[in-house]
Amino acid sequence: MPISDEDLHTAMHAYLRRNNPEICRHWFDRIAVLGIERGVLRLLVDEPVRLKYLQRTCLAAFTEAVQSVTGQLLAVRFIGPDGLGGEQPQPTTNHASGSMNETSVMLDEQMVLSPDYSFDGFVVGPGNRLAHAAAMAVASKLGRAYNPFFVHGGVGLGKTHLLQAICQQLLRQQPTARISYISCSTFMDAFHDCVKAGRMGEFRHRFRNVDLLVIDDIHFLSKHEQTQEEFFHTFNALHQSGRQIVLSSDAAPAEIPDLEERLVSRFNSGLVARMERPCYETRVNILKAKARLHNLQMPDDVPAYVAARIDSNIRELEGALTKVRGLAMATGREIDLELAKEAIGGDPLSQGRGNPQPNIQAILDAVVRYYDIKLTDLLGKRRHKSVALPRQVCMWLARRHTRYSLEEIGGYLGGRDHTTVLHAIRQVDTKQTRDERLKADVDRIQQVLQAAPNEA
Ligand code: ADP
Ligand code: MG
Repeated sequence: MPISDEDLHTAMHAYLRRNNPEICRHWFDRIAVLGIERGVLRLLVDEPVRLKYLQRTCLAAFTEAVQSVTGQLLAVRFIGPDGLGGEQPQPTTNHASGSMNETSVMLDEQMVLSPDYSFDGFVVGPGNRLAHAAAMAVASKLGRAYNPFFVHGGVGLGKTHLLQAICQQLLRQQPTARISYISCSTFMDAFHDCVKAGRMGEFRHRFRNVDLLVIDDIHFLSKHEQTQEEFFHTFNALHQSGRQIVLSSDAAPAEIPDLEERLVSRFNSGLVARMERPCYETRVNILKAKARLHNLQMPDDVPAYVAARIDSNIRELEGALTKVRGLAMATGREIDLELAKEAIGGDPLSQGRGNPQPNIQAILDAVVRYYDIKLTDLLGKRRHKSVALPRQVCMWLARRHTRYSLEEIGGYLGGRDHTTVLHAIRQVDTKQTRDERLKADVDRIQQVLQAAPNEA
């Protein structure tokens, strides 16, 4: 007997929540079942960013869920609000082709927006009120509210979230807006590639023909004189024609080392908003919002406890929530205070005073979060600068903060031998004396490692 669309919807979501809770979001309720046609289940999704998320991250899980619920060998296809996006995702979509399978927006492959990072999901508190208000104004009055809009603050305080929220809000209001959202390192890579290949025309076309240019972590321009020069012209071209520029950074414009004076003054010419660490109430509210997003039920004393233990940044807060959820799943228990204490109570990072010595796992975690890289890359064989330096920093920190031998440290870091470890430690030692940014990075990671938590 064929299953009704409604029953299919319910059973599929129950299956996903049981087997793939990490991908589930509260808005999955709003995915509509359009029916099964020639072996394909069609699912309607209300927003382009959600559509992309589903296509990118959830296709396999949905397929498994549908097959298991119906007992039939069905395929799944996610359809966007405009009836597009019916094709399977193509990771190498060429934005220049204006392919009709994409939304009409310039969503190039760099533009990966997380549906979690919207204004709806952003909790406002004293530390981010100005930045949030300005971001809302920027999204609704493109180029006319604050241009440029420059937001800065420490790691994990919500800069990327806010930048993506601006993009998503604009996409909702003006689905045809041309947006380029890109990390500074990708921007720099694109620049170098185009210089090498003699394709500067293409580069300029790509970044100067947009309504909104958003560059995350612009502090990475530090010391890159050539890219600074090019970016200066990109900036002027956009600014002069009233197009919006949004930038984030870990420091205020004048505090970014080795940034050309003319860029500092451009950055300061619009609105500069600083994001601060969240206060206790905000931390509690953020935890509740994240729990709602992931459909997690928990009594109020759980967020209260977690927020009291962890005050460094919001990424850490989320990490703690993930641990709580993980323990609940692993043991099949409901989330309550007891479980939360078990899940994060033994965390060496948040134990602080009683345990001034971080263990290697804590160092790995801190480095991975700080540089926003994957643990597998850190421990793996890749030698690209983006992972090689964090790996060296990791070895340096392990040597400094634990009692492990060089051999043991090498063992933890993907089975490297002691000479590699020794070399890495020397490198970090010498580089730190010349490279202020590296020194600041290392200092900050050490602060994270040593941060004493609030008393619970
Ligand atoms: P940053 O770019 O400043 O390092 P992110 O934007 O990546 O920080 O934020 C880290 C995590 O914390 C993200 O998962 C983000 O959703 C969450 N977060 C930060 N600020 C808030 C907030 N005000 N409300 C809800 N979530 C937040
Ligand atoms: Mg960020």
